Amino acid sequence: MLLSTDIETTLAEMLEESARRVWRPREEIGFGQWCAENIMLRESESPDYAGHYTPEMVTPVVRLFEKFLDDPQQRLLVLSKCSQSSASSHALFEIVRRVERGVPGNIVYVIHSAEEARNIGHRLDALLADCVAANDIVDEVPADDKSTLVKRLPGKTIWLTGAGSAGALASKPGVSLVVVDEVDKHKLLKGEAETIELASQRGKTVGDRKVVAFSTPTTDDGQIWRAYLDGSRMEYRTPCPHCAELIALEVGMLRWGHCKDLAGEYDLSRVMEETLVECNSCGKLIEEKEKRRMVDTGEWVPTNYHEQPVELIEEEGAEPRPRWRPGVMSARLGDMVSFWPGSGWGDMAVERIKVGGDPLKLHGFLNNREGKPFKQGAMAAVELRHVDALRGAYKRGTVPVEPELVVFAADTQDAAWKWSIGAFTKSGDFYVSDYGISLSWREVMERARDGVIYNGEARMANFCGVDEGGHRAREVRKNVLPLAPWFVAMKGLGGLQVRSVLGWRSHQVDPDADPKAGVLVDTIECLTFDDDAFKRELYRDRILAGRKQQDALTGRNIWFPADMDESFARELCAEQLVKGENPKTGKVGWYWRVKGANDFGDAVKMCLILYAASAPHLRVGMKED
Ligand SMILES: [Zn+2]
Repeated sequence: MLLSTDIETTLAEMLEESARRVWRPREEIGFGQWCAENIMLRESESPDYAGHYTPEMVTPVVRLFEKFLDDPQQRLLVLSKCSQSSASSHALFEIVRRVERGVPGNIVYVIHSAEEARNIGHRLDALLADCVAANDIVDEVPADDKSTLVKRLPGKTIWLTGAGSAGALASKPGVSLVVVDEVDKHKLLKGEAETIELASQRGKTVGDRKVVAFSTPTTDDGQIWRAYLDGSRMEYRTPCPHCAELIALEVGMLRWGHCKDLAGEYDLSRVMEETLVECNSCGKLIEEKEKRRMVDTGEWVPTNYHEQPVELIEEEGAEPRPRWRPGVMSARLGDMVSFWPGSGWGDMAVERIKVGGDPLKLHGFLNNREGKPFKQGAMAAVELRHVDALRGAYKRGTVPVEPELVVFAADTQDAAWKWSIGAFTKSGDFYVSDYGISLSWREVMERARDGVIYNGEARMANFCGVDEGGHRAREVRKNVLPLAPWFVAMKGLGGLQVRSVLGWRSHQVDPDADPKAGVLVDTIECLTFDDDAFKRELYRDRILAGRKQQDALTGRNIWFPADMDESFARELCAEQLVKGENPKTGKVGWYWRVKGANDFGDAVKMCLILYAASAPHLRVGMKED
């Protein structure tokens, strides 16, 4: 009897316990507070701030997510963000919240590669395991049903996928949340809809679907920036401690001009400590110690309104008219409001000073620090007169200044190599010294070894590159193998293949060799580059900017020998950046139209790439492949 009473008691307790679990009253708390109460961060998720989640480090991010997630009217959130933003983490927190709260509907998380999808899967597993209430639910699911990429939980399935399967994703049923991560890295097939579009279209079929899309932007015709422009374009605004006006903190408002030493050079340790922000409303200077309070009392403000005639603005009660579709929230987030180590105003100022006017570094700074795209914009065509104006007072084969680095680059043709050689100075100016056509590889090597003449002395090329050139790739790799790292194979990437401005990829020398055949297969490192970025540097920033920037501190020059042939100069005028339908991809946007031979243009461009690759400091802020 006693025993059975015990069992009854135990059963009753168990029932009560399980009833508590199921019927636990769910108080309506906001996303931010829910995270603070339920999320534990492991060191792997947040190396500096492991432990209980606190919104302090990421105030603007958590407020943005809350504004979007907790408002049933909102359908699509587009966030153009700096590199370190914790947007992925917050998207994962929302998934855990949906599991814990039993929010119905399936979830899809799309990222640009299968490997990244697995990473995200592991992060989600850890967050689910560390959230007590969610873990109770996940625990009861058989192991087979909770793989890294597919989790079949009660009432919902979570799929994690590399964007390659974005098409298949479109057919998943009953999806109520889609997260699209690293949007600008997603590969798109010709004719296929873009990822945000795919995810949102599916939203039409389910009443309460939300789509969260975010990315570090690339260029202004990239997917994330175009989607940002279509939305509400929210800015995080913080009250100025002097005039109380809500202002958006921007890098352009940083002031470090007072931090110079006696020689008039910037004293970087003072810049680090003493950089201020100038309020763009009252013009007064703000110290960084105000940042915490400013960010805490800040708010997200939409800015994408129709312009209003002045008389309407003055008229009381006249509401501005939104230019975005209802439910489409978009925002931009830069590091000016971050509290991560390395994101102080002084850090930003020092980095900005180092970036200077270098277009490559500026590209990285804009994307990774400010969450802004690099503006493509129109570019005039290079004409013969532009190139002619850059003839220097030196002859072919020579350079007039002490070389810091001599580079040699050869563009691979069907039956020849078209090469160019020149010298970079300490300040990054480039003197093209010579060019030519060689029919044999031996001749190419000899020309690189002969180098350039400075002050009567030969200076051998320090660093040489040769284009992999389509069907001759195997031959190029075989040629380069015994000469590495003096010579490297190079390959330009275009459009969506581009992951970083510069990168290295391992390739088999013989692409057809079977690595499993038990024979040693030679591999070489191939230098990959963003073709577009370096075309801009050559044509726009060096040739078209031309003599105008000779005295400017920021620009970098290019010079050609006085006796340069017109045929050589013409090949530097063959490419033009135009807007329209790209005949290769069918997409509308900016692309390079090529008229006539441009091989010497390519060879000179490759020299710039070799210089960039040999100067690692040029790659500040850029992500590795
Ligand atoms: Zn002010």
